[in-house]
Amino acid sequence: MTTVGVLALQGDVREHQAMLEGLGVDVIRVRRLAELTAVDGLVIPGGESTTIDKLLRAFDLRDALVERIAAGLPVLGSCAGMVLLARDLRDGIEGQQTLGAIPMTVRRNAFGRQVDSAEVDLVWEPDGSPMHATFIRAPWVESYDDGVEVLATATGPDGERHPVAVRHGAAIATSFHPEISADTRVHELLLSQV
Ligand code: GLN
Repeated sequence: MTTVGVLALQGDVREHQAMLEGLGVDVIRVRRLAELTAVDGLVIPGGESTTIDKLLRAFDLRDALVERIAAGLPVLGSCAGMVLLARDLRDGIEGQQTLGAIPMTVRRNAFGRQVDSAEVDLVWEPDGSPMHATFIRAPWVESYDDGVEVLATATGPDGERHPVAVRHGAAIATSFHPEISADTRVHELLLSQV
């Protein structure tokens, strides 16, 4: 049986857990090293990346998490989770660290005030079909290395299209919150890698 963890330090843990359970996998909340060791895949939820970063270090989880992701642990980060998966960060706070899981630069709070919270119709590139996505003080991917696959883009307040869902190996990141919709495709993509 596949066990997927949801990092449960802060953020919308319950919604990810409900969606994953609906897809038929065992879910555990990850707050300790032993729990991290037990999972076959991990979700880093939306919330506040600065807080999750601090708590990862306070709970002594950060280094183990970096190692497990580098060793190929399938991982999905949404919103604050996308920020945490980035290699480089723009508009982070002083001292904010990321996990360096995906060779990309992420701009935190990029959609800014104009789109503090918005629902947007995207195209989900893996199947070319529409996806209704909810953005809440969302980041975008500012730039990325070869090998990062763009799964969806959206128009920012600057009028330009920016990647809002990407994949690199077994790591997936979305600017939006797939866990608060009825659309299971993002979580299914994670499970297909587990
Ligand atoms: N702006 C938040 C951050 O930087 C993310 C918001 C969210 O996860 N909904 O962490």
